[in-house]
Amino acid sequence: MTGTVSLLPRILSGFHVFILLSCFFLSQLFSIACAGDNQPFQEVRGEHFLVEFTAEQERASARQILDRAELYYSKITSDIGHSRHQQSWAWDRRVRIVLYPDQFSYNRFTGQPQWSKAYASRYSKFFSSRVIVSWLGQLGFLEEALPHEIAHLVLWDFLGFSSKVPLWLEEGIAQLAESDKREIVQQAIKQVEASGQIIPLAILAGMDIVNEKDTAKVSLFYAQSLSLVLFMLEKHGRDAFRRLLRELRDGKDFEQALQTAYPLVFPSVNDLEKRWKAFLSLDNI
Ligand SMILES: [Zn+2]
Repeated sequence: MTGTVSLLPRILSGFHVFILLSCFFLSQLFSIACAGDNQPFQEVRGEHFLVEFTAEQERASARQILDRAELYYSKITSDIGHSRHQQSWAWDRRVRIVLYPDQFSYNRFTGQPQWSKAYASRYSKFFSSRVIVSWLGQLGFLEEALPHEIAHLVLWDFLGFSSKVPLWLEEGIAQLAESDKREIVQQAIKQVEASGQIIPLAILAGMDIVNEKDTAKVSLFYAQSLSLVLFMLEKHGRDAFRRLLRELRDGKDFEQALQTAYPLVFPSVNDLEKRWKAFLSLDNI
């Protein structure tokens, strides 16, 4: 159908760049001078987060970010069944949210490229802790980048280093945490399905999204990722979805974890794809 293919990038243009860029959370380490050398950070502390900022007049904004981060943490851990880690980010294990005063400082001091809006890392030797780094005053930070990066950190804590989690599943869950995104993505993906442009799941699972140059493909990768997670979670229940994550955490590959968590509805990845596409087609008739 004419128009449906171009519709998705248009609909998603508000956030796909953010997704692509913010998900450059990278395990790369900083190699440049610390901002603290000439801009000492102040901080506000919550139960699980510590927000660092550079000027006293930013304290109210930092406090707002801290309060929102605590809310997201509670919701995200609950969504994925990660309650046993409620204490793991407390005290000296708080996650640091480092906020530079502006984008220029962020790029300059972190070495991130111009298009980067935020990143999260659990490996950072530079910051010596779990960290989310961005800058103050960024449009949509509270509703998009902040919950998205917190979700990545929670998920990494839950799944550990050795689990075999498809990137699309991880990015689908991270996007789940963002506000006001679910409905618009699901509607867009239904139109893509009607136009026959859906990326097959086998291809989606192997996409090298960080190096993908085609922004329409990148948009579609993220949108399909969220749509699949929404389908599994909302149509087939939170308990089974949590079981899937536990099985992945415990070392099963995705197909094995799917068979265990959804033995009757998705005994294989092919079944998941068929049922998801059938669901997308329901409203398109
Ligand atoms: Zn991400």
